[in-house]
Amino acid sequence: MLRRSLLKGAAALPLTFGLAAPLAAMAAPPRRRVRPGDPGWPDAGQWAALGAAVGGRLVKVASPLAECAEAPDSPACAELFKNLRNPFFINESPALTQTLGWVDAWTSHASEYAVAAETSADVAAAVTFARKHRLRLVVKGGGHSYLGGSNAPDSLLIWTKPMRAIQLHDSFTPQGCAGRVAATPAASIGAGAIWLEAYDAVTTKAGRYVQGGGCTTVGVAGLVQGGGFGSYSKGFGTGAANLLEAEVVTADGVVRIANACTNPDLFWALKGGGGGTFGVVTRLTLRTHDLPATFGGVNAKITATSDAAYRALVEQVLTFYRTSLFNPHWGEQIGFRNKRQVTIDMVLQGLDHAEAEKTWAPLFDWLAARPADYSFSKPSIQTLPARLFWNPAILKTVPGVVKGDDRPGAPASHFIWSGDAGQVGQVLHGYQSTWLSQRLLDPDRLPALVDALVHAAATWGVSLHCNKGLAGAPPEALARTRETATNPAVLDAFCLAISGAGEGPAYPGVAGHEPNVERGRIEAKLMRAAMAPLMALPSRPASYISETDYFEPDWQAAFWGEHYARLQAVKRRYDPEGLFFVHHSVGSEGWSPDGFAKLG
Ligand SMILES: Cc1cc2nc3c(=O)[nH]c(=O)nc-3n(C[C@H](O)[C@H](O)[C@H](O)COP(=O)(O)OP(=O)(O)OC[C@H]3O[C@@H](n4cnc5c(N)ncnc54)[C@H](O)[C@@H]3O)c2cc1C
Repeated sequence: MLRRSLLKGAAALPLTFGLAAPLAAMAAPPRRRVRPGDPGWPDAGQWAALGAAVGGRLVKVASPLAECAEAPDSPACAELFKNLRNPFFINESPALTQTLGWVDAWTSHASEYAVAAETSADVAAAVTFARKHRLRLVVKGGGHSYLGGSNAPDSLLIWTKPMRAIQLHDSFTPQGCAGRVAATPAASIGAGAIWLEAYDAVTTKAGRYVQGGGCTTVGVAGLVQGGGFGSYSKGFGTGAANLLEAEVVTADGVVRIANACTNPDLFWALKGGGGGTFGVVTRLTLRTHDLPATFGGVNAKITATSDAAYRALVEQVLTFYRTSLFNPHWGEQIGFRNKRQVTIDMVLQGLDHAEAEKTWAPLFDWLAARPADYSFSKPSIQTLPARLFWNPAILKTVPGVVKGDDRPGAPASHFIWSGDAGQVGQVLHGYQSTWLSQRLLDPDRLPALVDALVHAAATWGVSLHCNKGLAGAPPEALARTRETATNPAVLDAFCLAISGAGEGPAYPGVAGHEPNVERGRIEAKLMRAAMAPLMALPSRPASYISETDYFEPDWQAAFWGEHYARLQAVKRRYDPEGLFFVHHSVGSEGWSPDGFAKLG
């Protein structure tokens, strides 16, 4: 089906497999992009021509939030704010984003127009139109960007939501790679798909595994281009590491194939170089893996009765992690919060229930031997056949695990993990992350890590995401991840430490629903103070582009390390005018924060 529509579309497209001349022929970089009302803003006839070129799939975007600002007490506004807690509602609107803003950083704004792209030809037409008319162009898939990368006022949006076809391959060879790259099982996924759809097709229906994200509503293309971690990345590497091929429309409006043999520099950049930067990806082909026998999770909460006992607990938990969990079977989070609390929210793959219990027994025996120092409940250990892990019919029978889509007539297949519900429609107050080297687990460096975590717990709280650092992963997962643009610090890190603060759906200018800016600033300050000692542990800044600080001062080094110069070269080659602009993206230096003017 996907193949058929591609072949059909290809007849009308300038599809190239190598880098031809057109990029060089592009005009000199524009100094300023045009806004509505500026001379040069396309007239009605020109918009109509674009609409015709994309088969009528051009829409004038109306923001329901702007309408709400006009009538904040209306039933429609109340209904909107209820729906802003539903990620599937947000996903269906070209005017909305899953993160609604970040206090003192950005606010989600609807574009002027959107092309609801169904084909790469639609995307190519929109890219060409934006370049020709010097428009601010944005691309949106799942809409989860923390940094506001998929929205901009006065812009033309390419909305990939309609491109969601998924095709599985028993044996996939990237184009032009025959005889050079071994064929492998794979899945080709339309750029507008969210991970829920990918897991349904690949795992629930076909019994295979694809490395995607933890949150089910995150977009496939956005996650992979950011690098992309899921609960089981310690076993399989990043999402980007598993990319075999992408179809991408570059700034010259040409549809290109990027893989290890064709446009390999672009291919490498797409693997972690950041979304919305090198072109519009229209289809991704990802390696699939044999499905492990089991998936599962372990949850527990431990509270210490004194500061001394808490320090001993943090040291014990980290030592236990190093000896028992620092391997491909284990991922997700250990939290340090509420002054003296450790929370365990870990997942497992490839272990049965008895093996999981045996793994955790030493830690809980240690705790049980110290009743005066610790209170805790028996850990909850769950395992299930891996094929059922994303099966909504099963998950919805277990109380508290998932949240469905409660709109009348909504597909029964829709669900998110209950733990992700707090982030739907959120306005961030602050967010920081840092990769932590495995060396910090060595006995001589452990005290510094313990100190930093005790401080973080006392000040605000932090979680170690053990699936987002790849030290301890199998050699093949490390080797594939090494071939991506992500900061190589990820290879040596045992985890990504993350702290954040935010509030539920809110929007400036909507009376009764405004973000709490004052509280946001206080929380951001506390969160930063909590993270400061942890952020100081790495010798160089090292943060994950998709889960990072909007205000990261040393973002080029933090997101990509020594890869940055190579990424700049790819950007110059494929997007010399800087058509694609995202806050703190490769090549964004010299642009105004809103991407409208080239400064200096
Ligand atoms: C609730 C929540 C949970 C998250 N969970 C995880 C997680 O488990 N693991 C993880 O690694 N990250 C996670 N993230 C971060 C997430 O991976 C990134 O925000 C990712 O970029 C989101 O992709 P998207 O398509 O949903 O978002 P969008 O906002 O649509 O896109 C993100 C960026 O990619 C660009 N982009 C999107 N589609 C395309 C395309 N087809 N071609 C070119 N550029 C494109 C956009 O322009 C934007 O700059 C989470 C974020 C949130 C808000």
